Amino acid sequence: MSYKAIWTENKKLNAVEKVKLKKDGLDIIDTIVNKYAKTGYDSIDADDMGLFKWAGVYEQKPKNGYFMLRVRMTSGIMRAEQAKVLAEIAEKYGRGIANITTRGSIQFHWLKIEDIPDVFRRLDACGLSSFEACGDCTRSIVGNPLAGIDKEELIDTSSLVREVNDFFLLNRDFSNLPRKYKISISGSVHNAAHAQINDIAFTPASKNIDGKEVLGFHIWLGGGLSSTPHLAKKLNIFAKPTEVLQITKAVCTIFRDNGYRERRTHARLKFLLDDWGVDKFRDKITEITGPLLESGIDKTVSWNAAYYYGIHPQKQQGKTFIGLNIPLGEIKAADLAELASIAETYGDKKLRTTLSQNIIISGIDDERIPSLIKKEIFKRLPVTPKNFLGYTIACTGNEFCNLAIVNTKDTARQIANYLDEKIHLPVPVRIHITGCPNSCGQKHIADISLQGGRVKTENGVEDAFTVWAGGTLDGDGHFAEKLKDLTASSEIKFVLEKILRFYQKNALENEKFTAF
Ligand code: SF4
Repeated sequence: MSYKAIWTENKKLNAVEKVKLKKDGLDIIDTIVNKYAKTGYDSIDADDMGLFKWAGVYEQKPKNGYFMLRVRMTSGIMRAEQAKVLAEIAEKYGRGIANITTRGSIQFHWLKIEDIPDVFRRLDACGLSSFEACGDCTRSIVGNPLAGIDKEELIDTSSLVREVNDFFLLNRDFSNLPRKYKISISGSVHNAAHAQINDIAFTPASKNIDGKEVLGFHIWLGGGLSSTPHLAKKLNIFAKPTEVLQITKAVCTIFRDNGYRERRTHARLKFLLDDWGVDKFRDKITEITGPLLESGIDKTVSWNAAYYYGIHPQKQQGKTFIGLNIPLGEIKAADLAELASIAETYGDKKLRTTLSQNIIISGIDDERIPSLIKKEIFKRLPVTPKNFLGYTIACTGNEFCNLAIVNTKDTARQIANYLDEKIHLPVPVRIHITGCPNSCGQKHIADISLQGGRVKTENGVEDAFTVWAGGTLDGDGHFAEKLKDLTASSEIKFVLEKILRFYQKNALENEKFTAF
């Protein structure tokens, strides 16, 4: 029986699955371009609106005719000319702002349905795409943003990530998964692509094969956040670089055919893995791929939390990269265009986004650094940011997101600015703010995190946050634990100040805020 026949036979399919049986999500691209962009917002059918995600488009809050559009950013690496196109789109359609997400993608808000075909055209013309940046399919692949220039990478994963991306993008065999399928492929020894919170992840490993040390990957499976967070588990497999696509495809096939489609909240790969266990899952993979080698030696040494601030030598002699802060991931179109021009004039004509919502400029001649960093733009987007603003991450929040309970970006800015004024620590403390339990702001992996809710106070019902602490992806990873119940948004900066003062007073020498 074909996999589509299996879904049709399943009487308990959730409502989204029933829509997907009638229309492939990818068909919405043509419907947007050739129908709705001409007939307008009010003509959009509710089922079709649900499929807009496959085109990388979401209806934005308060559902009055505007959309968010997300652009895939494979491994975070883009050419300067592509960055200029993104800046033009932000300027023309996105009210002059682009946002970097926690997967290093770029988002625009304020698009009208009539604008979208032109945005698709502009992206396509420069080799970028928003397709399948959202939806029940393989999302933008995260990787080492320093791929190819990283002094410490064991494998340059640039071409590997491109190969996997190109295989899955617009591939109708994999455009109807039970939920999203997030892939992480990195050769960095610093776990640059947050392996443990992806559905499938590859981190560097080595294995002695016929007396020769061969570099390849460990495989992690079943990670994901939201309200039921799971740290990915290691499979007992050593993947040679040439096997990465084959294994990623096999896992996606298993997920497509066996993943749960009854409840949306129970549809991610992590639930299937929980029920099967790693040994059964491994056997299912090898039924498709044929025999695979057992795990080699883990080569990951630490987790850098995706921060690259400062000025650093590259693997190429005489070349340097700089990591700069884009506060809360929001960048003005003019600044993005200027960074692209800097990359063209001073660097290797590339910009690299990070999972901490920041940007790297690479390939700069060492001797040009002193004059470069004097430029005015690096006062706004500094290479040495403030301790709190530079390490605070926020999801979209209720300004645009229909699922949000509270405001995130403005609150994050206020909290970070307050703490930067009040507290001076020798080490950064990573603060993540997420507007609802879905955790796009990655509450679980922060030193301190805030999750939005609502609380009754004497002034009525107010925005509020629960407080969490202790998240890390060092080693196997450890998710943040709840410290405090809902506290009104207006009070939250004082609560954080208290926690940080306690740490300041009691920390041992060189003790990091999170020590697991
Ligand atoms: Fe929206 Fe919630 Fe995701 Fe924030 S965490 S972007 S509020 S769905």
